[in-house]
Amino acid sequence: MKIADDNMINMKWTDIQTAVDNKAIVLLPLGVIEEHGPQLCLGTDIYTAQIICSKVKEGLEENGVKSIIAPPFYWGICQSTRGFLGSFNIRMETAENLVFDILKTLHDFGFNEVYGINAHGDIEQNILFMNSFKNAYEQIGLNASYCFRKEVLHHYGLTGNEEYICPVSPQEIIVSVAKESDVHGGDIETAIINKYYPAYVDVNIAKKLPAITIESGKEMEWILGGKTKEMSKDGYIGNPSAYDQVKINEHIEDTANRYIEAISNKRKNV
Ligand SMILES: [Zn+2]
Repeated sequence: MKIADDNMINMKWTDIQTAVDNKAIVLLPLGVIEEHGPQLCLGTDIYTAQIICSKVKEGLEENGVKSIIAPPFYWGICQSTRGFLGSFNIRMETAENLVFDILKTLHDFGFNEVYGINAHGDIEQNILFMNSFKNAYEQIGLNASYCFRKEVLHHYGLTGNEEYICPVSPQEIIVSVAKESDVHGGDIETAIINKYYPAYVDVNIAKKLPAITIESGKEMEWILGGKTKEMSKDGYIGNPSAYDQVKINEHIEDTANRYIEAISNKRKNV
């Protein structure tokens, strides 16, 4: 699978017209270009978002809902990994306006519903996405919903009932054997890229990487960045070497299903 497979960027304008005529909903893959340790490509997050969008599209189709995947958006903020080569940092305002313009363009095309599917955890990035979706909803009347993890909504002062939020249930199955959770570039991300884009991961390096955890109480130091190289000189937190024990098919299927459920619930209220 290449990033552009099953995506608008491979289609003709007439195909986009057909999707509009069919009242297709739009899935917008969101991520960032960021270092992911010495074993993984910079595009790990946006590749992951595109994989999930493809699976969500298939599942929606089975439920009789037509969808189309918009060009991947992969610019934004890398607070925790800032300072590593490969982590691009775009001003929040620039990225927020750019996402808004993309949503506005989709609305101008004739689409009425857009769902943002993000695979990058940065706090500021999440805030800017929410702002863009909120502004698109309020200013242009687009049913723009940012799919966001239910369990963290309260940290952002949200309830999940906001028109521009599509709450996604947390994962309940265990897909990893690693004791060290995959905070960044760990076993799960390594497994995803190894399955779908094997040319973009070096598993020989992954197998040799020691597990790295964040000392208890230092989580915010990682999240806010600035000391990342002291915490992990190679730029990952987790256990990449356990990538081959991740239940990758179950993980992707479960993730896609939770998005499908979230979108279906949201649509009942649109
Ligand atoms: Zn990532």
